[in-house]
Amino acid sequence: MSPISVKKNVKNWQPDMTRKESDSPWICHICDTKGQGESLTCSHCFMVACPQHIKHVTSYNPETGLYQLMPVCLDCAIRYAIQ
Ligand SMILES: [Zn+2]
Ligand SMILES: [Zn+2]
Repeated sequence: MSPISVKKNVKNWQPDMTRKESDSPWICHICDTKGQGESLTCSHCFMVACPQHIKHVTSYNPETGLYQLMPVCLDCAIRYAIQ
């Protein structure tokens, strides 16, 4: 009987593809708090902030005609006097 052939697919070795994008680290641009996983991004300046520095404001969307909650960082909330 022929021996069991073991194929070593070294060339086809792939890096760890199971890493989720949601595990990527983030840092709050206001207080430099570091975190990992789901991050909150300001809808005005598109910068990441921690939950303490993101507030959700009700904003009217003329395209959909609906009010929706928009994440806004405290920087922009002060800058644009958003309540
Ligand atoms: Zn923060
Ligand atoms: Zn902002």
